[in-house]
Amino acid sequence: MKKIIIIKYGELTTKKSNINYFLKILKDNVNKAISGIDATVTFDKGRMFIESNVDNYDSILNKIKNIFGIHEIIIGYKYDDREMESIQNNIVELLKEYDLSTFKVITKRSDKNYPLDSMEISRKVGGTILKNYNNSKVDVHNPNLEIYIEVRINAVYIYFEKVKGIGGYPVGTLGKGLLMLSGGIDSPVAGYMAMKRGIKLECIYFESPPHTSEAAKNKVLELARILSTYNNGIKVHVINFTKIQEEIYKNIPHEYLITIMRRMMYRISERIARYNKDLAIINGESVGQVASQTLTSMNVINEVVKIPIIRPVACFDKLEIIDISKKIGAYETSILPYEDCCTIFVPEHPVINPEFSKCEEYEKLIDYETLITEAIKTRDVIKVDNKNKYEDLL
Ligand code: ATP
Ligand code: MG
Repeated sequence: MKKIIIIKYGELTTKKSNINYFLKILKDNVNKAISGIDATVTFDKGRMFIESNVDNYDSILNKIKNIFGIHEIIIGYKYDDREMESIQNNIVELLKEYDLSTFKVITKRSDKNYPLDSMEISRKVGGTILKNYNNSKVDVHNPNLEIYIEVRINAVYIYFEKVKGIGGYPVGTLGKGLLMLSGGIDSPVAGYMAMKRGIKLECIYFESPPHTSEAAKNKVLELARILSTYNNGIKVHVINFTKIQEEIYKNIPHEYLITIMRRMMYRISERIARYNKDLAIINGESVGQVASQTLTSMNVINEVVKIPIIRPVACFDKLEIIDISKKIGAYETSILPYEDCCTIFVPEHPVINPEFSKCEEYEKLIDYETLITEAIKTRDVIKVDNKNKYEDLL
């Protein structure tokens, strides 16, 4: 008998034609997450298996539960001996530690040539349990313990417990994207949702020292670290936005400050994305949330780039976004009260329906091409990962 982790894919199994591509990336992601632990990962079209020393299973479980593409994680037992009588004996032995007051046996037989069908196997195993454990009872509707048996070509798997995975597609299967990461609540949630669709992230953060502090930057890096759990490390491009913002502030009518500033952010983000082969920009804009997120504003701001912009939380209520933020453990960090580069230069009356022609007219007042090139050239690139959480490996 070998203890084993079984991974079920769920949503992936609908991707019939390129399932192997998805599974290879999932296997890679699993291997990276558990690197340092002596374990072997194998897969077939239906399941992925991790085998290791018995002592490692809890730490493996901890490391793989945040991997997208995993629907369910099972810690089970693998037996090469598939004889019916052996299955019965092995189950009786395994059940010693479990509460059997009510139970149900569920059998899946992927080897269709096995001499007994699923119903017959369940019935035989159920009978043996009743015989060996005096106070046990079958309850098919609401059992205390579910006993799963999978009869596959070369082995039998037995398990009792399942842990829910986080679903989605394996990160990287849909290419790379650039997340505009601020210190707020929305953008980390947007990043999480993009990763769930299989997009591998890198981030861009605009800071305006000395108007924004080191603490504000560290908060963003902490949010990046939280996201990196799902992404296997994350790169953050830190752009010094001070000169651009000051030039805008000095030269442009204040009601257009935010609009022009966001057009500059988009321009810089697109260039960084193209340079790094990111296929989309992702951000935390939500329709109607602030003046720069009306549909008119979005049109005028979006106009300066050609790259697709994905806005995962565009149609979510703030409360829905907060729910996800809490679920992914970002909320407590997001609400820390540090200033953001946008909030410092916020005008009293930002335009709600900006005009294209005015943006173009005002932008002629600053030499933004030079400023953008300079900001990109002098950016800082910081690699953030989750090593601290994996200290048991080191
Ligand atoms: P909040 O949760 O308070 O709304 P926010 O980060 O969503 O914070 P917004 O002003 O709504 O702030 O900005 C919309 C989006 O623009 C953000 O979700 C983020 O994707 C991007 N953004 C804003 N400021 C920055 C910044 N300093 N660096 C990088 N991206 C930013
Ligand atoms: Mg927002």
